[in-house]
Amino acid sequence: MSGDEIDINDLAAYSDDDEDLNEHEKEKETSNGKKDTHVGVHSAGFREFLLKSELLRAIEDIGFEHPSEVQQECIPQAMYGSDLICQAKSGMGKTAVFVLSILQNISPINGQVSCVVLCPVRELAEQVKRVFEAFQKYLDPPVRTHAFYGGIHAEEDRKVLQEGVPHIVVGTPGRVLQLTKEGALDLKNVKFFVLDECDRMLESNDMRSDVQKIFLKTPKSKQVMMFSATLSDEIKRICKKFMVNPKEVYINDGAKLNLAGLQQYYLNLEESQKNRRLVETIDNIQFNQMVIFVKTIPRAETLEKLLVKRNLPTIVVHGRMDQKQRIDRYSKFKKLYWRILVTTELLGRGADFERVNIVINYDMPKDVESYLHRVGRAGRFGTKGLAISYISTKEDKDLLDEVQKKLVVEIKELPNDIDPSTYMTS
Ligand code: ADP
Repeated sequence: MSGDEIDINDLAAYSDDDEDLNEHEKEKETSNGKKDTHVGVHSAGFREFLLKSELLRAIEDIGFEHPSEVQQECIPQAMYGSDLICQAKSGMGKTAVFVLSILQNISPINGQVSCVVLCPVRELAEQVKRVFEAFQKYLDPPVRTHAFYGGIHAEEDRKVLQEGVPHIVVGTPGRVLQLTKEGALDLKNVKFFVLDECDRMLESNDMRSDVQKIFLKTPKSKQVMMFSATLSDEIKRICKKFMVNPKEVYINDGAKLNLAGLQQYYLNLEESQKNRRLVETIDNIQFNQMVIFVKTIPRAETLEKLLVKRNLPTIVVHGRMDQKQRIDRYSKFKKLYWRILVTTELLGRGADFERVNIVINYDMPKDVESYLHRVGRAGRFGTKGLAISYISTKEDKDLLDEVQKKLVVEIKELPNDIDPSTYMTS
């Protein structure tokens, strides 16, 4: 299709056989519960964790004032060295749990990798690396972190490793395993092993096998920590196989996993009406940034072209894009170069888009868990947000019902007018 010739119905013509990143079968959420609270306004400050002064300084620079509930619960345990399984809803600051505890305890030795953090998606690896860099900046001796992931020439990674081994390796399982197997990356001194979005990595057989192989390259004695917003009992059981007497922290039960501050609506429409309604919504609604999820890569590309053609500042990111371009677009979107991101299930999880306050499920996801992760891209860290799901088939409707039942939430039909103050944080 040429860039200029976009038919409003083109999108509807594509089939849904194309996206391979969401092919996994999932157990549903069954976690047990604790009370659901947000930022601990009355909670103890970061000082009470007795973190190094260099870390406290960085925390101040970054602007964190109070630890969130998950940070309150987990940072002391993680600093103590316990193995940890942590489930807490999206956007509540799980990354800082492992980043701070590792930076507190690490003794960087030149030439040795002390920590491995595995993430399911490249963008997340890059994001986690940046969080390490933000917190480690005052440490002396300095700590070095590098992200390794597919899509970049392995040769570049080998060069990085030859020039100076990072103390902290963040990466996707495939690339980390490749570098380990060929001897470029030596993991025999690892003391901290982290799986971020662990359920996604452990439920896919391929990734799980890579994770296991990497795990076996590390010494027996080390601290293992795993994090996710959703964890089935089956995955918890698998997590525990990697651990010794883990401390288990499950914040808020499945029934309350929907984000407070997030308004959720649905819109009944025909597939062929989706584009028109989307453009209307974008024209009529106030927002900071918006993420639109579609089910396949061709649909994502077509939709981006359509929105760009209408002069809407839109960018697409998907899994079949050149890696450098993918990371570049992702980070520029975070920096507000564009206001609308069209993507697939690829960025459904973990991505921390601070300014996104609207998520549109142009195509419904495959299951409740994905729905939860996707809508969690809006309303990060307790801010307000709006999620709109387009319902055009019986499957969509069934999933919407399941979401309402499982998440104990009422999703209403999208009204004509929504007061922006209800979803825009002023
Ligand atoms: P999760 O991994 O639980 O989905 P992240 O670690 O990505 O969440 O954190 C979500 C957002 O909240 C990030 O922008 C992060 O900088 C911010 N954040 C985390 N902890 C705090 C805190 N204690 N105070 C303020 N902002 C925080």
